Amino acid sequence: MLNLYIDFDGVIMNTIDVTYKMMEKSNIDFKDSEKCIKFYETLDWEKILKESSAINDSWDCIGKIINSKKFNVAILTHVNSLEEIIQKVKVIREHFRDITIIPVPKAISKTEMLKAEGAVLVDDYVHNLVEWEQAGGYSIRFDLDMDGKGYPVIDRLDVLIDMLD
Ligand SMILES: [Mg+2]
Repeated sequence: MLNLYIDFDGVIMNTIDVTYKMMEKSNIDFKDSEKCIKFYETLDWEKILKESSAINDSWDCIGKIINSKKFNVAILTHVNSLEEIIQKVKVIREHFRDITIIPVPKAISKTEMLKAEGAVLVDDYVHNLVEWEQAGGYSIRFDLDMDGKGYPVIDRLDVLIDMLD
């Protein structure tokens, strides 16, 4: 079975939109990386996840992917704090009792957490896709405008079932 890793922020839930709005509200300059890191480390993830919503029926789509029995599915998500892990796991467990969840500290590459070779990563962040491909994996971009930036692109997760036949 193919190993399929699905990103969380910007793929399963629109948490990025919510955090960007919060940054704008608190007048944080997106270019000030030190302030951005601090901001992300101290975020109230329970609140963010409550204000976020699923992207294009993502939970249903993941259910369909699991039921297709074609893939070993795991959620592979960058995190900035332990609290972020706790809250993300809580939300994911409301939908799936036993899906594998792999939190990756923001400071390191997703490819350093597991073997990317021969595995698929679905991610909205191009930098992650580049690293994944360099490590021998197969990268698919998730983008609501269907802009693949050089990668195969999807805007809802259940199309993976036929795409990766
Ligand atoms: Mg993402």
